[in-house]
Order: sequence, then structure tokens, then C-alpha cells
Amino acid sequence: MSKANDPSLRSWVTVKPESDFPIQNLPFGVFKTATGNARIGVAIGEYILDLQALAKSGLLDTVAFDKNLLSKDTLNQFITLGKHVTNAVRERISELLNENNQELQGKAELKSRVLVKQSEAQMLKPVYVPNYTDFYSSREHATNVGAMFRDPKNALLPNWLHLPVGYHGRASSIVVSGTPIHRPKGQTKADTDEMPSFGPSKSVDFELEIAFITGKPTQLGESISTEEVESHIFGLVLFNDWSARDIQKWEYVPLGPFLAKNFGSSVSPWVVTLEALEPFKVEGPIQEPAVLPYLKYGGKKNYEINLEVEIKTASGKSKIVSHSNFKYMYWNMCQQLAHQTVNGCNIAVGDMYASGTISGPEPDSYGSMLEITWGGKNPVQMPDGTERKFINDGDTVVLKGYAKKDGVRVGFGECSGMIIE
Ligand code: MN
Repeated sequence: MSKANDPSLRSWVTVKPESDFPIQNLPFGVFKTATGNARIGVAIGEYILDLQALAKSGLLDTVAFDKNLLSKDTLNQFITLGKHVTNAVRERISELLNENNQELQGKAELKSRVLVKQSEAQMLKPVYVPNYTDFYSSREHATNVGAMFRDPKNALLPNWLHLPVGYHGRASSIVVSGTPIHRPKGQTKADTDEMPSFGPSKSVDFELEIAFITGKPTQLGESISTEEVESHIFGLVLFNDWSARDIQKWEYVPLGPFLAKNFGSSVSPWVVTLEALEPFKVEGPIQEPAVLPYLKYGGKKNYEINLEVEIKTASGKSKIVSHSNFKYMYWNMCQQLAHQTVNGCNIAVGDMYASGTISGPEPDSYGSMLEITWGGKNPVQMPDGTERKFINDGDTVVLKGYAKKDGVRVGFGECSGMIIE
């Protein structure tokens, strides 16, 4: 494990106990300030360490790479350098931010130039996303949806326990946290209606997901084994796969999600590296029946990451409607990417692979309003006296996530989006 993960490390930058960004995390993102260009930074406490400015000072000279890549408006080219570079940069930053290191700490003027308050910066979408896949890998979620949309007795379709079901989603409409999402219009048809009708969706929902971002590409015809997958994953973000349930119900047979999903997906701006999450690995659920050989894996491949979903109403009242955990996933990321590429499908740097809705076993751990309200049958009571079956115009949905162990909290910040007309 990287020495940057050592729980005893402390930074000279103040990091509050509830912060997602201690020295053990150091996630990468792209930001802009009122006066500067888009550039790459690393989160520490309430600050961003500006890597463009840090490189100009010479303090990154110990890691050899083209420093111009730190002045790009996406992480793609930086990530393409490979883990031997990106991990070395994370480890060098860990040294520079260490309370026992004076190289940066001791230079007041430089410090004020390379540390930018997060509250004074605008975060951008961290990567250009060439391709996006959405999996369906939570057994609890697939069982709940299958029970509601089809048959409670046979909720899981016959393939579900044999392969990580997924579909190719829409990359162009992935937006960074904070971007408003327009309520989609489309065709819907209730079971009681004879003909479909057209109009704004009446059941806009969130899906609580985590997506991994690939950093090492493959050529057409190549496959990635479960043992190799981790070398291809740069890091993870929170992912809200906004969904219009009424449109989905009518359109999804036989080819799956289309306009119910492609109107927008929100991602958190900070990419937490796979290396920073290494201490939080846990065993996944037992897979029975046994999977085919190409989906077998060794070691711990799930991650204990606490997740929550909050709905903030236009009147400013808010309620946490779900507490879930990434550890519940039935199919892990190694199996997902091995499956995605087993037929020779090529992957690119910046691709996003979303987990599928992360639902836990209890109703308060379900990852969508569809499940929490059981198709609208049990509305959520909001603190302002209103109730929610789905998401209203003016509501903001906020996803949060963090892992915690040995007193170290490694988090993602937040992934928020407001539904507007
Ligand atoms: Mn989804």
C-alpha cells in the first residue's frame, strides 16, 4: 500500500475531522477561478492545491512528465501518462503537504499562490467522457425493480446471476455537480390508458451510483482479465443516473433504457483514486451459482463506502432519504470491466462505468425514489409538510459518500443537481 495512505500522516493545511479531503485522499479535479484558466488541482481540506502553479514553482520537478498537461481543462491527458506518473504525483503532493515538510509550508508567498479556497473556485467536469456504460449490479435494486415492473416471484431475470447486466449510456449529457437538469418531456402510457401521451415526465427520479473512470486504454480485440482491471482504473466519482420512470416503463421493452436516461447524468467533480481507496476494500457477497471462469476473481474487490442521498426542496428544507453502501454490490468493478471487454470491445481513457443503483437490504438504504416509495405507493414526508413520490421542479438531489477507517475519512465531496422545468 502507498505510504501516502498512512493513517498517521497529518498535513500543515487545516483539515477538519468531518472533511472528505485529508492528506490520505488527495483526489484530482479540474477547476477555474475568476482570474485564471481551467487547470488541474488536488483537494486538501477546504482548499485546492493548484498543480499548474505548483509545477511552475519547481516543486514537482522530482516527477518527470509534461507539466503543460496540468493546464488542460480535463484530466484525460494527465491520466493517459499512466499510474507510474499519477501515483508519483500523489505521493509527491503527500510529501509537500506533510506537517513535517518545509518545502512549501515554509514559503508564505508561494503558499498563498498555490492554495485556492474551494469556495472561490468553480469545479468543472473532471474528464472528457468518450464512452459511458451503466451496469445494474446491485442484487437488491434489480430484485426491487423486477418485482415492481414484472413479477415479485421471478424478480431477477435468468441471466442476472450469471453476468453483470449493463447497457451503453449517453456520454454527451454527463454534467458536473451543480448543473441544473431539465425535466424531460416524452411519451408515456399508463396501463389504464389506451394510447400514449406526450408531456413532461411526472416521475423524475435519481439513481445513487458510483462510477469508475478508466485511465489505460485497450485496442479492439483485447480483453482485460479480472486481475488486470485495477491497473486500468484511475479513480471513482459519485454518479446520479437521473431517470424518468414513466418514460422508462413505456419505452424500455425490448432494447432497454433510452430517453428515460439520456437527458442528464450528474457526477461529482473530485476523482478519488483507486489507490486512496485501497484501505477500504472488503469482501463482496458470495456469488451463487458460481460464475464462469472469466468472471472469477481473487481477493477483496468491494469497497466499504458510506453513501447518502438528500433532497433539498425549493423552500430550503431538506431530508436524507437514503443511507446505502458501495459494499452491497453483487458484481464488482473487476468483473464489470472484464465482462465489458471479454468480447474484444475497446476502452478509452476517461470512459465512465457506473455501478447501477446501489441499494441495500432495508427500505432506508434503497438508492432510488422508485424503491423508497415503492412505485409511489409510500410517499416520503418532507420537513416542510409536502410529500414526494418522485422529484419536483426546484428540488435539489445531493449524493454524498465517504469511507472511514483508523480515524481516516476519505470522501467524494458531493454530487448535486436541481431539477428545473
Ligand atoms: Mn442506473
